Amino acid sequence: MTTTEEVNEPIPLVVVQGFLSSAGAYFWGDFGDYLNKDGPRRRTIFVSVGPVSSLHDRACELYYALMGGTADYGAEHSKIHNHARYGRHVEHGQYPEWSPNRPLHFLGHSMGGPTIIKLQSLIKQGHFGSEVHPRMILSVNTISAPFRGTQAVYLLGERVDGAPAVRPLSVGAFVGRTAHILSFLSPFLPPALDMHADCRSLTYRDASLLSLLKQLWRSDWAESRDVTPFDTTFQAADERESDGEGYTEPETFYRSHVAVMTRRNSLGNFHSPSMYRITSPFMYFFARRLGNFDFSTLRPRPSFLDHDSKSLGEEFWANDGVVPVFSQWHPHPCSRTRCQHEGKKANDVLEPGIWYVKSPEEDTHHLSIVPRWTATDLQRRFWVDLGQWLTSVEGTRRKSNTV
Ligand SMILES: [Zn+2]
Ligand SMILES: [Zn+2]
Repeated sequence: MTTTEEVNEPIPLVVVQGFLSSAGAYFWGDFGDYLNKDGPRRRTIFVSVGPVSSLHDRACELYYALMGGTADYGAEHSKIHNHARYGRHVEHGQYPEWSPNRPLHFLGHSMGGPTIIKLQSLIKQGHFGSEVHPRMILSVNTISAPFRGTQAVYLLGERVDGAPAVRPLSVGAFVGRTAHILSFLSPFLPPALDMHADCRSLTYRDASLLSLLKQLWRSDWAESRDVTPFDTTFQAADERESDGEGYTEPETFYRSHVAVMTRRNSLGNFHSPSMYRITSPFMYFFARRLGNFDFSTLRPRPSFLDHDSKSLGEEFWANDGVVPVFSQWHPHPCSRTRCQHEGKKANDVLEPGIWYVKSPEEDTHHLSIVPRWTATDLQRRFWVDLGQWLTSVEGTRRKSNTV
């Protein structure tokens, strides 16, 4: 079955941003001319979700931002994680017509990728009701997504042997305190600094200065399992995968874009960044540290570490400055999902239910493709290719709907 609207109007693209990112369309820039180069203009919807919130909370906020209504985090989840069941009320959803007959395309950068997968998983579990179906997500494109965790989170402050505990004088602890201060002051702050902490009663209207100081000393939120940093640990990713999250849905098209700024060095499978990347000192430093990380120090041991780290391929150390390559591919190991990695197989037929893993032709770091628009050749090629791919997904869907 097709509707007139589906035929005449390209299906909108929903953009989901990553950790600490909520700057939106202004920051992502003028990519529209390239996205729509070969066809009618496609609507792009930027959705704001908690920049430090857990995947569960972000996925719930994403759903209600599109549909409208009061964010419902679920009775069980809110009880376990000690926050209110209901959050912000969205008067006018950004796409209230979202339904199995009016699906949407999704694009996620960094934690935006696992957020979309979590949304599809919650939809499948019936979290949003029986009328909501996983095929409402027609396609998923991800860029530098840490589906299976990243060692960067331990370098930033998460304890290697005791997550979700955070080391006191670390970047992670600083970010946690900043999130509390921004939440306390949120009624005065612009949307770009919105922490989406409505269900936690952290504003100056709901919480005293003394309780803020207590949270700055030791945060119930930053050191919980209900926050982005814990969700980027290998432990949390293993838990999601053993709960059966992240398997592909038969009517959704999936593609991941893998960035890498390192090369294998002379020490086995370890990786190092190219010297010219020293001009991006933060990325260079982290790429080096991720490139020789000792996974054997982690407790609990990650599921991929069957015996010892010598058995791991170089994709565990190759990285984009924030996320290792193996984690950017897709949820689950290749042996337990359906995937097709560029250059390995020659099947060009576009099929739903399979992860198409795409690698850029050149050295790229975590922020090269998105979010900051600088109109590089790489960015322009990315958006043109994405526009064409979305159009071909719609063509494939139309064909299968009319058979
Ligand atoms: Zn929560
Ligand atoms: Zn694979």
